[in-house]
Amino acid sequence: MNIRSIVLLCLFLLFPLASHALEITGLRIESKEQGEHVSLRLTSKVNYKIFKVDNPPPRIVVDVPLAHWKGTPALPKDYRGRLIKKMRFGFHDTKTNRLVFELYADAKLDNIRLIGSSGAGAYWLEFDLMTHSSAHSRSLSSESTLTKAPEKPMIVIDAGHGGQDPGTSGYNGSMEKQLTLRYARNLQDALLKTGRYRVTLTRSDDRYLLLRERVKRARQAKGELFISLHADSAPTRTARGLSVYTISAKASDKEAEALAAKENKADVIGGMDLSDASKDVANILIDLAERETRAKSTQFADLAVKNLGREVKLLSNTHRFAGFAVLKAPDIPSVLIEVGFLTSPREEHLLQSQTYQGKVVRGIVKAIDSYFGKHKK
Ligand SMILES: [Zn+2]
Repeated sequence: MNIRSIVLLCLFLLFPLASHALEITGLRIESKEQGEHVSLRLTSKVNYKIFKVDNPPPRIVVDVPLAHWKGTPALPKDYRGRLIKKMRFGFHDTKTNRLVFELYADAKLDNIRLIGSSGAGAYWLEFDLMTHSSAHSRSLSSESTLTKAPEKPMIVIDAGHGGQDPGTSGYNGSMEKQLTLRYARNLQDALLKTGRYRVTLTRSDDRYLLLRERVKRARQAKGELFISLHADSAPTRTARGLSVYTISAKASDKEAEALAAKENKADVIGGMDLSDASKDVANILIDLAERETRAKSTQFADLAVKNLGREVKLLSNTHRFAGFAVLKAPDIPSVLIEVGFLTSPREEHLLQSQTYQGKVVRGIVKAIDSYFGKHKK
């Protein structure tokens, strides 16, 4: 037996040992624009299979050779993502361990790869999950998305303000832009949990967005309902209560008009006032679409007032009409909800509490269920 054969023999003997010694030493999930990036840290290079199972619930399956999971196999404790509902890790057969990610809703699986080196002492098995709206806008020839079963209604949630535009400041310093994002995320979670809706956020982090851009995102996502979340302000500390707005050519009262002027100002902050750009393309079709959309918006606003009224204090004369630019998608029923007054110290405190947030979210989910006729499901 020459040296070469001995080396080969040793390699053969070592190989099974090496594969048994495979360890999964970490799972990391990062939020990305319109999706999540998942990476699994491994101690050696492996053969793997990653695929999607479409029949409900949608799942991502990762098959790897038998491996020891260091610690407890679980989603990262700080996981705040929107896509993965739960995960499990176990045996698929005598040679394979299977990791399954159960998703809230269908997502696109993309960018599967194994990177790393023995020199680095670690490998990363990675993939991206993308929500359908992003998969949609990224691939122009996504025929497969057209052949799917009737899709769940797409709800677009718009967290007001963001980035350089903080919105209203609370009596005790809370910022509207942070509050609206928190409510938007909670509402998104609650809607996804019902399994009845798809959800897109116009922003999922602290970024500045033109009002026009928010509407554009809602239309790209093919939203069927647009909900813009805001927190109110008033010159007096005593003004309190939630209110719901829909669009009108003419604001219904002076307060509503002043509020619309304040919220719309955000469109000018970026340097250009684009709020009137759509007037150039106004025609009879848009007008007709707007009429129908306005009727639907009003219908949803009434349901929102009814359902939220059971949960929290409402501002008197709660359903109001104002010329908010963010409500101007001609084809998507849209409402703007001022969840309460940050300028009231008492309400600011309430707005920050889990209980109040839960009530607002519950009220909106019930209104959405009624609107789409799903309350008896
Ligand atoms: Zn606002």
